[in-house]
Amino acid sequence: MNFALAREAQEALKKTTRWQRFCMKMRGKKLYLGCEQKEGWSGKLPFYLFWCSACEHYAKDYPHGFIERQYLICSYCGQQQDFVSWRAPFTELRDLVLFFIRHRREFFDRRKN
Ligand SMILES: [Zn+2]
Repeated sequence: MNFALAREAQEALKKTTRWQRFCMKMRGKKLYLGCEQKEGWSGKLPFYLFWCSACEHYAKDYPHGFIERQYLICSYCGQQQDFVSWRAPFTELRDLVLFFIRHRREFFDRRKN
């Protein structure tokens, strides 16, 4: 159990509306709390408040793992929750564009032959 994050989750929960809590609990919404830089970190990371159905607590965490498959860890029980970043579709699109630019020559060469 991450006591610091669990306590922060309780603090953040006080500022949420009934509707936000409903969305987190019933629809699995991850509520964006803002970017924070913790001690010893080289930069800021986005934090989210979410409902953990495994232990029935509201937990707070930042996304772990690679952007295509990120997850949040419950501050109470350590259960992993799938997290799809809003940036993921943009990253995919960017990779597609980069792929096309990189292989542009091959496409053109093929056309000439
Ligand atoms: Zn949990």
